[in-house]
Amino acid sequence: MKDTETLYQHGTLALLVPGLFDGTITAKELLSHGDTGIGTLAGLDGEVVIVDGQAFQAATDGSVNAVNGDATMPFASVHTFDNQLPKTPLAAMTMPAFTTWLQTTAGLKNAFAGIVMTGTFNRVHVRVAPKQTKPYPPLTTATAAQPEFTREDVQGTVVGYFAPALYAGATVGGFHLHFISGDHQFAGHLLDFTVMTGEVTAQVLPNLMLHLPTDNSDFMKADIKLSGLNDAINEAEK
Ligand SMILES: [Zn+2]
Repeated sequence: MKDTETLYQHGTLALLVPGLFDGTITAKELLSHGDTGIGTLAGLDGEVVIVDGQAFQAATDGSVNAVNGDATMPFASVHTFDNQLPKTPLAAMTMPAFTTWLQTTAGLKNAFAGIVMTGTFNRVHVRVAPKQTKPYPPLTTATAAQPEFTREDVQGTVVGYFAPALYAGATVGGFHLHFISGDHQFAGHLLDFTVMTGEVTAQVLPNLMLHLPTDNSDFMKADIKLSGLNDAINEAEK
């Protein structure tokens, strides 16, 4: 039976803060732990969206590419989508209204949840992290200037997670959502949207499986400072 109760996370957002952008898990390995999720490629090369067991990369030039099985990532989260769960219809609303509404409707507070929302959107606004080369800069430097893209009248899927603020650092506290259009031509880390009509599944995930890149010597030796950590993550990820 498929495990639909586990959030499998490779790496942490905290390790990205000092610039640990080496790819430390292959897409193939990641996809053995789930069919739905988000991440970034080695070198912070764009935004990864995983839908229906397929991984896509939103690249800095605005293109969307299929991710090869041997491509690697420093950070990614996946879960197995539970298609038995009800899909809740939603009214037309903006992204801030959506996250507030969903948090209340699905009772998202103290547990992790995988979010999948399909809909028709008036407007979707995303950004894409730019690829870095070694020696890697800190996350806030790498993400100081990020290309942003907007698409109007688009059908697509929002994929991501809700995490309680308690786990900020390991991940982003609150919502971390990516988008991919139905035609797989437009994708990125969500900044804003206005949805006209759609339906959402919030899949509460009781288990967190955190997999750290212990084969990576830079990771094993790095000083990850707690001071200012969440400010840096929020600056880079919002
Ligand atoms: Zn993101």
